[in-house]
Amino acid sequence: MKFALVGGERREPEPTLTGQCPGCGETVTAKCGTQRVWHWAHKGLRTCDPWWEPETEWHRRWKNLFPVSWQETVRRSETTGERHIADVQTPHGLVIEFQHSTITPAERVSREHFYRDMIWVVDGTLAKKDRPRIDKGLPDWRWQPENKYTAKFLVENFLPSFWVKCDVPVLFDFDGLLVGPSTERQNHLICLLPNRYREDQAVFFPMARSTLVGIANNETSIPDWREICRDLDANRMQVPTASNRLQVLYRR
Ligand SMILES: [Zn+2]
Repeated sequence: MKFALVGGERREPEPTLTGQCPGCGETVTAKCGTQRVWHWAHKGLRTCDPWWEPETEWHRRWKNLFPVSWQETVRRSETTGERHIADVQTPHGLVIEFQHSTITPAERVSREHFYRDMIWVVDGTLAKKDRPRIDKGLPDWRWQPENKYTAKFLVENFLPSFWVKCDVPVLFDFDGLLVGPSTERQNHLICLLPNRYREDQAVFFPMARSTLVGIANNETSIPDWREICRDLDANRMQVPTASNRLQVLYRR
């Protein structure tokens, strides 16, 4: 965790500090080494949130694009009392989860159900093959404008298959730490929308990091997939023609 309560105030870790976990209230110790990003840790190996993953520089860079008060927000279910710490939650209740490591399908579904209004941002640099796959499968994706929506069959041929059936939007970050501040306005993320166009095609579009920050600030929004499908139906946007062969393969 980046934040713990010290004397009732949210503080970042500093050598020798101890604090209180904002999730469970137990004592946490500041870990300020050289191997990992400075963080707060519970005693031993335990953590109060089973969904929490060890943080990397990638997590921190993303979180730091958002106001401190939005980072590491404790969410509690009023019905079950279940508690989790969201990476970022906006004042409008939108949760953004930055996912670096692999998780089980069951955990992914649980998290989507728990937060409901959420977006995944997935580290596409974790598996070495993922970036070459999209660069080969969709060679021009980096040069597409943000409002260019594409519907394609078999998106798992170029996007990480684990994430292609989510019930919430998924943003793939294939550049990770390679992207510097000067390129953050470029369309380097792929936003895959939930649901399907005519049931079997997935709709996606490129997005700049700065747009994601704008979404959180309520300046922009992720377009409604239904509207996009209507536009695709009306042929006002370019619809890729899928070969019959692909269609047959997919439906088998
Ligand atoms: Zn805790």
